[in-house]
Amino acid sequence: MISETHLRLGIPSKGRLSDLATELLTQAGLRFRRQNRGLFARVSGLSIDLIYLRTDDIPTLCAEGAIDMGITGSDLVEEAGADVDERMKFGVGRCRLAFCVPDDAPIKSAAELDGKRIATSFPHVTRKYLSKRDAAAHLVSLAGSVEAMIQLGVADAIVDLVETGSTLAANRLRILEEIGNYETVLIQNHHKRHGEIADRLVERLKGVVIARDYSLMEYNIPRAKMHLAEKVTPGFNSPTVNSLEDSDWCGIQVMVKRKDVVDTMDQLKAIGATAIFEMTLNNCRL
Ligand code: AMP
Repeated sequence: MISETHLRLGIPSKGRLSDLATELLTQAGLRFRRQNRGLFARVSGLSIDLIYLRTDDIPTLCAEGAIDMGITGSDLVEEAGADVDERMKFGVGRCRLAFCVPDDAPIKSAAELDGKRIATSFPHVTRKYLSKRDAAAHLVSLAGSVEAMIQLGVADAIVDLVETGSTLAANRLRILEEIGNYETVLIQNHHKRHGEIADRLVERLKGVVIARDYSLMEYNIPRAKMHLAEKVTPGFNSPTVNSLEDSDWCGIQVMVKRKDVVDTMDQLKAIGATAIFEMTLNNCRL
């Protein structure tokens, strides 16, 4: 089934990243069908084979060359100590890895955890971080439910991923110190086999990520107010300015971060813009 002539792309077989990876690849124009939850799927019309793997195995398998590229979390790349190239960030799955202690614990820094018990799914990252601070702890290494371990009496602190912080709040825990910020990434083996197809995949996925992140805005503005409008919407590179029949006015087309669109509309309205529209982008190449 697997072919030497095809780039092997490892994607998560289950878990929070699995559906997202499928969605991103589909949006990037890849057509494939996974049969009966199998290990492989061939992409039609492109020399790519998808290999369905555990998200936390993808960094190691990519470093070892079993797969050429993979979609996984940068936290897992660091924990695996995988020597791979990070080709792009997807801007999703953002989280922090942090030392957390009970809300009322008097402790002030991670270095004070020297000699204490720490539960975590990230023993390597935790040990490395502590050793740089001349501290060493007894690490309780677990695959999940780390947030419950202080209550269960097996740990004094935990090192866990925090996204919204609601898991911490529910367990009456607070962040003591952050180790780092992580997100979903596309990684590549150093040997860069099938480099041309890999680069094409990266270009396509970058287009999808930008299109997911940005909207196209259009509005009309008096020419005399252009300098103000350019401050509100500087654009990705620079805005497109079109002439209107009324030469005192012009039409602007510009990329704006989706999360900023509503605020931007308010600001544009306030400086005299009219006919302000937001258009959703499906895909792009910049
Ligand atoms: P939250 O309650 O939103 O802070 O999420 C924290 C819980 O979700 C913890 O149990 C984490 O292990 C898990 N989590 C948060 N973000 C991620 C991520 N990007 N990848 C994997 N697990 C995560």
